[in-house]
Amino acid sequence: MPNVVLPGDHLASIEEFEPGEGTSILAESVISARVGKVVTDMSKRTIAVVALKNKQDGLPVAGDTVIGIIESTSSSVAQVTIIAINETKSSKELSGILYLREDRRFKFGPSVKAGDTVRAIITSTVNAIYHLSLECPYCGVLFTTCSNCGGTVVALSKNRIKCTECGNVEDRSLSEDFVKLSRSNTDH
Ligand SMILES: [Zn+2]
Repeated sequence: MPNVVLPGDHLASIEEFEPGEGTSILAESVISARVGKVVTDMSKRTIAVVALKNKQDGLPVAGDTVIGIIESTSSSVAQVTIIAINETKSSKELSGILYLREDRRFKFGPSVKAGDTVRAIITSTVNAIYHLSLECPYCGVLFTTCSNCGGTVVALSKNRIKCTECGNVEDRSLSEDFVKLSRSNTDH
């Protein structure tokens, strides 16, 4: 079982466990209804997801969302400087590693570029490293530019952008916010 589960994650079959707090049933599965840690009670055969609490020191914990700037990318990971924690500006100069490999929608290279602003979720803080994922609601690229000419881009879909200046089309793992803003700017 992963360190932290997200809403919709499969936890167990309904034959294995009764759904507890923070869970729901979908077909034959008990699924998570929140971001949190899985707790099982073998005597009662229940499975629950408990919400994660912020630590006193203000450092982010697994399940928190962060906003960061992509510093560099390879095919499977990106280095991120964290500038906000749970939408609140942070001056702690924390950095994280964003894992891109799990994102199978993108066949051509990384789905983020150096300089992009992204929203991501912390999936683990093992070894004092902030492990980040784009797999959460409203996660993804919040701001980006054309990698060809640096021009302004618009969303063609949730996974693709087009430059308004040179016409270059490329993959990007966009947040819902970017897509909505892009649509409202191009609709009129
Ligand atoms: Zn361009």
